[in-house]
Amino acid sequence: MKVYISSDIEGTAGITNWNEAEKAHADYKEFRALMTGEVMAAIEGAIEAGATEIVLKDAHDSGRNILTEDLPDCVRIVRGWSGHPLSMVQEIDESFDAVLFTGYHSRAGAESNPLAHTMNLNIGELRLNGVPASEFHLHATAAGYYNVPAVFLSGDEGICADAERLNPGMETVATLEGIGRSTVSIAPKLARRKIREGVKRALSGNRAAYLLKPAAETVMEVFFTNPVSAYKASFYPGAKHLGNRTVQFAHKDFFEIMRAQKFILGA
Ligand SMILES: [Zn+2]
Repeated sequence: MKVYISSDIEGTAGITNWNEAEKAHADYKEFRALMTGEVMAAIEGAIEAGATEIVLKDAHDSGRNILTEDLPDCVRIVRGWSGHPLSMVQEIDESFDAVLFTGYHSRAGAESNPLAHTMNLNIGELRLNGVPASEFHLHATAAGYYNVPAVFLSGDEGICADAERLNPGMETVATLEGIGRSTVSIAPKLARRKIREGVKRALSGNRAAYLLKPAAETVMEVFFTNPVSAYKASFYPGAKHLGNRTVQFAHKDFFEIMRAQKFILGA
């Protein structure tokens, strides 16, 4: 079994403040280790379920967070950013049996994690066919484009609820609840145990039931927080400036949505 794992940090048990997610800050060391612990738990669960090949994307910020020393032989890790439109699922293709998400966080505009965002902090809200979308929504659909089902997610309660709404019955592990600028979190060791067990269960179950196929057409709407960003983004081929702070791009081919987000969201 060949498994893809995409890992972020802002949904790791205990994380609460941006200082804890930023490489240059003294608080980061502790949370990169906690992130790594959750990733290792997912890898262990996957191997117990029969995974023989794992591609792991380090998908937070620099793409260079996970401590690699103890990765098992069956894991290859994608570090840094190539600029490829698949972003947080770079190198995914039809050869994978499932995709797992760890450390994922609430979408831009949600109150359920003090570190909530979608792709970057300049996006007030991203909508896919009218639904406010998370990084999970975007990348699980991108995986679905290649027929890879999204069977497991760990992260804050808000993203777990969003993921279950989008992909009913999928296995999730809630690590923390955001309350204003605070969080209420489960213990890291409990999070790791739940992730290992959850991943094992998810990969041993009916994986095909959790395939998120892109819609026949996707309309992406981007609401920028900075009022002057939409103007620049509106020059992406096919994009429309809908008005103050808002750009729309629609396409039948979901790969074109991924290509567009790569250029539009960074405007
Ligand atoms: Zn991140």
